[in-house]
Amino acid sequence: MWSEDVEHDGRIAKLTLSEDGVLCWTNSAFSDSVILREDVLGLSRDRFTLTLFTFKLGKVGCFGSSSSRVRKDVVLHFRDSNTLDSWYQRMQAFLDNQGRPKRLYILINPFGGKKLAKRIFQQKVKPFLSAAGVSFTLQETEYRNHAKELAKSMEISQYDGIVCVSGDGLLLEVLNGLLARSDWKMAMKMRLGVIPAGTGNGMAKSVLHYGNESYNVENATFAIIRGNTHSLDVATVVQGQNVHHSVLSLAWGIVADVDIESERFRGLGELRNDIYSLIRITRLRKYRGTLAYVPAPGYEGSLDHISREDSDLLSSSIPDMNIEKGQQWGGYSGSMSVPEKSEWRIMNGNFILVWLMNVPWATQTVLAAPKAELSDGFLDLLIIKECSRRELLKSFLKLSDGTHVKSKIMDYLKVRAVCLAPGGQVNGGVEGGYISLDGEVLARGAGAYGDGSKDPMCYGSSIYITVEKGLATVFCA
Ligand code: ADP
Ligand code: MG
Repeated sequence: MWSEDVEHDGRIAKLTLSEDGVLCWTNSAFSDSVILREDVLGLSRDRFTLTLFTFKLGKVGCFGSSSSRVRKDVVLHFRDSNTLDSWYQRMQAFLDNQGRPKRLYILINPFGGKKLAKRIFQQKVKPFLSAAGVSFTLQETEYRNHAKELAKSMEISQYDGIVCVSGDGLLLEVLNGLLARSDWKMAMKMRLGVIPAGTGNGMAKSVLHYGNESYNVENATFAIIRGNTHSLDVATVVQGQNVHHSVLSLAWGIVADVDIESERFRGLGELRNDIYSLIRITRLRKYRGTLAYVPAPGYEGSLDHISREDSDLLSSSIPDMNIEKGQQWGGYSGSMSVPEKSEWRIMNGNFILVWLMNVPWATQTVLAAPKAELSDGFLDLLIIKECSRRELLKSFLKLSDGTHVKSKIMDYLKVRAVCLAPGGQVNGGVEGGYISLDGEVLARGAGAYGDGSKDPMCYGSSIYITVEKGLATVFCA
C-alpha cells in the first residue's frame, strides 16, 4: 500500500494505492475510489498535476434509479514533481501490465447502418482512445470486401488488435481475410473488436452482455481499451471448393428472408426488421429441404435417427467436405474432420426456419440463442417446421428476451456440424429464398430478390457447416 497527501478539489486529501490497483482519495468531507484496471481509461500528468480519466459505474437518473458508466476527470495536485513521477509511473505500469492494446488497426464502414460510423468514431471513440493513450491507424472501407483484402495483407505484427466501427458484416470480412492468410494461425491470435455502428450489431451486444456491460458505443470502446480477451468459436461453411467463415449466424427461411429482403428499407434503421418480419409472417413462406446435423453431447435424443434413404442422401453431400482439407485455398486448414455417419440425424420436409447461432445475440435486440456461449465449441440450432401464423408471431414477439426457445413450434439444440440442402418454396411460390451468413447473402434461390451474381455460394447443393472451438480471439467486456 502506498500513501501520500495530495490536493483534490481545493482540500488536502489522503491518496492511497493498494497492491491490486485500488486508488482512494479521502478528506474530512469526502471519499472516493477507482479500480485502476476496471474504471480508468488512462492518465496524464504535467509538472505537479496528475489527471485520471475515469469511466466508472455510477447511479444515474432522477433518483439514482439506474447505474451506468460516467466519464469524469479526477485531478490530483502533488507537492513535488518527483513524488508525482513515482506515482505516475507506478499507476501507468499497473495499467500497462493488464495487456491493454497500444496500437489498433481501425476499420470504419462509412455505409454501415445509418451511415453514422465516421461521426460515431470522431465524437465518441476517438476521445476515449486519446484518453487511454492508444495509437491507431484509421482506414475507411471503400467497397464490399475491402476489409477482407486489408485483413489479408496487413502487417499484423504492427498491431495489438483490429477494430471494426461497423455492423457485423465488416467483422465477418476481417475474419475471412485473416483466415485466408498463410499465417492464419498467428493471425487468429489478433484480438478483434467491434464498435457498434451498423444495422445488426449482434457481436458487439454479445460480448458486452457477456461482461454484464450495457450496450453502447462508449462501453464497447472501453472494453477494447481494457484489453480483456475471450476466445471465440469460428464456424466454417463449405460448399465444394468454396469456403467461408462465420462467427455470428447462418439462417435459412424466414430470418434470412427478412435479413436480406428488408435491405430495401434500409432508411428505416432497426425498425426495418420488425416491419418486414410482420409482412413475412402474414405472407408465410415454407421451403422444402433437407437438414442433417450432429448433436452436441447431451442433445442426442432430441430428434429422430437417420433413416436408410436419408443416409444415401447424406453420403452424396458430405464426402465433398473430406477432400480439400484446406490445401486449395492456401489459408485455414483447421479441424475439418467430418463426423461419422452414425452420428448424424436428419430431417426432411418443409421448413419455415433453420437458424444457426454462434453467439447469443443475433442483433442488439434479438436474443436468438440464449444458451449460446462464445467458445463452447458448438453452434446453437433453432428449427421451425410446420406451424400457424399465430404461433409464429407469438414466438417472434419473444425474440427480444430469448423465451421464444421455449415455444412448442421451435426445436432448440446444440450441434457440432450441420449439412443443409435448401430447396424451393412449397406451393410453387416463385421467391427462392436465401441462406444468409452473419446478415449477408451466402446463396440465393432462383427468383429471389436482388442480383445474385456476386453471391459466394450457389443455391441447392448442400452446404456443410462445422465449428472450431475458440479459434478466434475477441476483445471482451
Ligand atoms: P450493416 O449492419 O448496416 O449491414 P455492416 O458494417 O455490417 O453494416 O456492413 C455491411 C456491408 O457493407 C459489409 O458486408 C461490407 O462488405 C459493405 N461495405 C463496406 N464498406 C463499404 C463501402 N464503402 N461501400 C459499400 N459497401 C461497403
Ligand atoms: Mg459456440
